[in-house]
Amino acid sequence: MIPSVLPTYNRAPLEFVKGEGAWLTTADGRRFLDLGSGIAVNALGHAHPALVEALTAQAQNLWHVSNLYQIPQQQALADKLVEHTFADTVFFTNSGTEACELAVKMARKYFYDKGQPERVEILTFDGSFHGRSSAGIAAAGSEKMVKGFGPLLPGFVHLTFGDLDGVTNAISEKTAAILIEPVQGEGGIRPVPDAELKALRQICDDNGLLLILDEVQCGVGRTGKLFAHEWAGITPDIMMVAKGIGGGFPLGAVLATEDAASGMTAGTHGSTYGGNPLGCAVGCAVMDHIADEAFLAEVNRKAGLMRQKLEGLVADHPEVFEEVRGAGLMLGLKCKAVNADVVQAGYGNELITVPAADNVIRLLPPLTLTDEDIAEAVRRLDKTAAQVAAA
Ligand SMILES: *Cc1c(COP(=O)(O)O)cnc(C)c1O
Repeated sequence: MIPSVLPTYNRAPLEFVKGEGAWLTTADGRRFLDLGSGIAVNALGHAHPALVEALTAQAQNLWHVSNLYQIPQQQALADKLVEHTFADTVFFTNSGTEACELAVKMARKYFYDKGQPERVEILTFDGSFHGRSSAGIAAAGSEKMVKGFGPLLPGFVHLTFGDLDGVTNAISEKTAAILIEPVQGEGGIRPVPDAELKALRQICDDNGLLLILDEVQCGVGRTGKLFAHEWAGITPDIMMVAKGIGGGFPLGAVLATEDAASGMTAGTHGSTYGGNPLGCAVGCAVMDHIADEAFLAEVNRKAGLMRQKLEGLVADHPEVFEEVRGAGLMLGLKCKAVNADVVQAGYGNELITVPAADNVIRLLPPLTLTDEDIAEAVRRLDKTAAQVAAA
């Protein structure tokens, strides 16, 4: 008999009832160190006092109105994002995949309005992930996600990750945009080298294309800059954000330049919940913490410490791990053992990690984790690796 919850997830038998900082407690009182953050969502950890305060204060006043009216919390969050990024304008969604939908629509409308309606194609890369909506799965194009769900949204050209010549060769009079994650998350924590992001920006400029960055996982302080593309010294035309921006409240956004967004006039797009007062009140509190140089400096310091300890861990367990990869606190351990076995063994040591493609385990801790948490994380990983090696 089908479970009452649609069984699209293989769930671990872990039931958490409380969270604090980087720690999660189960119903039976076990304390887990959380290196997953609900997949890069709880950027400020669990039950951060400022987020609890922002949410409960807003909840006592007003939960929801509609985008038919002024929403000051939404205006405030948009202003913060515009102040701290390349963007001139922001649309709020509830998730990353909804941000993908708008990014695709915006790019196509841009060229339609410029009198080039044939420019509909978006170049994407293998190993990418842009969510589970029809546009998201068509964009990523992996068999696992699309099989059985056709006909797919047309207009995506799938290229080999890291193959710049492939990009140049794929450009035609139908090309509208390039869509890429600066650091692939689901694909196995694969960073795009700065030089390559720069080259993609140049290719877009040379060919009049839009550069769309998916920073749903790598954005909002995760790599030690507010947004990952800042490391490469470039800016996109359109950027998708979600996960960390809500700190656990469902919130996403599309950021764009005035030019890229020029086609999105009144009536061309909408969302009932997107940008509602509750979500945006929390988003403002998240931004106030993360868009702060001192906070980001701490992320970078802790990332350096964690990376150094992980390099040592890999050296100590060459039969389990192959390498450390990633940027900031978006780290991956490429495994020699089966990644799912390492994640599973971690559970036995009260440690949460997240599997990814390419036989990687992801370490996406709350950006607020302490030096002590890092030391404890590495102790637990060390114990876990020894168990996996002995099994
Ligand atoms: C998680 C993710 C998405 C989809 O976000 P949802 O909120 O699950 O819809 C899109 N892109 C990237 C890079 C992601 O990591």
